[in-house]
Amino acid sequence: MNYIEPAPINPQDDDPFESMMSRFDIAAEILNLEPGIYDYLKTPQMEIKTSIPIQMDDGTIEVFEGYRVIHNTVRGPSKGGIRYSPDISLSEIKALAAWMTWKCAIVNIPFGGAKGGVKCDPKVLTPIELEKITRRYTANLADFFGPERDIPAPDVNTNEQIMGWIMDTYSMHHRRTVTAVVTGKPTFLGGSLGRVEATGRGVRVVAAAAMERHGMKPEETSIVIQGFGNVGSIAAQEFIDIGCKVIGISDVTGGYYNPKGIDINAALEHRKSHQGTLADFKDADQVSNEELLELPCDILAPCAMEDQITRKNAERIQAKVIVEGANGPTTAKADPILESKGILVVPDILANAGGVTVSYFEWVQDRMGYFWTAEDVNERLNRILSEAFNAVSDRAEKHNVNMRIAAYILAIERVTKTLKLRGIYG
Ligand code: GLU
Repeated sequence: MNYIEPAPINPQDDDPFESMMSRFDIAAEILNLEPGIYDYLKTPQMEIKTSIPIQMDDGTIEVFEGYRVIHNTVRGPSKGGIRYSPDISLSEIKALAAWMTWKCAIVNIPFGGAKGGVKCDPKVLTPIELEKITRRYTANLADFFGPERDIPAPDVNTNEQIMGWIMDTYSMHHRRTVTAVVTGKPTFLGGSLGRVEATGRGVRVVAAAAMERHGMKPEETSIVIQGFGNVGSIAAQEFIDIGCKVIGISDVTGGYYNPKGIDINAALEHRKSHQGTLADFKDADQVSNEELLELPCDILAPCAMEDQITRKNAERIQAKVIVEGANGPTTAKADPILESKGILVVPDILANAGGVTVSYFEWVQDRMGYFWTAEDVNERLNRILSEAFNAVSDRAEKHNVNMRIAAYILAIERVTKTLKLRGIYG
């Protein structure tokens, strides 16, 4: 299993939840949101912290901390990934859960938002220990999860196998196989074709829509991608397929730059034979992760972790367009700097929504018990993301704001409309 992701390279500009709220506040003010609705949308519905005691392979007992935050369920069951990382905090999970609410509203799928995680370092855990953590976390949350309640998915350092264990554990507790309780499963266990590729593919779909709207030709467009995990490496291949030149990539071992274009197939082969990393990749000059972000290019796609573009380095970013494949790669304090430089930012809650969109398809297929072709999945993904891109762009023009604030405006409008039609019970 490949658990390698670059660590955050810059100190946080803000508490993650506050960073999310500062963008929300700008959109709420433009919409003149009434105070009661503001409070309702701001407040997570549920914040769960659970302890996960595990007998490690050496016989000792260790207790891990698990979280699940359900931000909002007014548009449907809550949806969102589970991440395994030593650095997670409740504030981060709360921000990520709220982003899921906005993301699902932007792509107009019938879900609310949630996020979860376990504070652990998967690099030092054995597969057996990882499985035990996953099963105990799921068992502790078995009353909250469910196809009509809360549906987890992969996120940082979690993968198909872990989703398979979640499905199995939940099913054991419910005495029947419940595939729709979790998405991002192996196709053999009710997963959807195209789910693994969906986030990276979605990054390319929205980037292509941005290129078209702003008169950029793919064959004249150079791309720098931070992160060569699931999202970044798929996005790289997708950009090559439409004729772009990928000139920079990176992973935990650093950045790799070749202004003539990197052979992405060679990089993928290299990763396979070098324990999942790009260490010693020869076809490019080695640069640091910081330098990678500041390379001259047309499109920069941060596809790794939060807080990569901050007030400390935003001034030095040279890209014309930033397409955020990761969740929260840009801090709120970097936003005005990028805007003053005229950089178009396609925000995370739109740019990386391909993953949850195909998760929605997986949930639909599991509930129907009928599975679609890869062509069906990709065609529907393209349509949904293109519609979302246009809806956000239209809001940006209408309110004369950047795409991030426009995305929040669209999300708040849709969640508020649903809330008003349902009414408040109580
Ligand atoms: N973890 C992914 C995200 O942040 C996917 C969530 C899902 O598929 O539910 O969007």
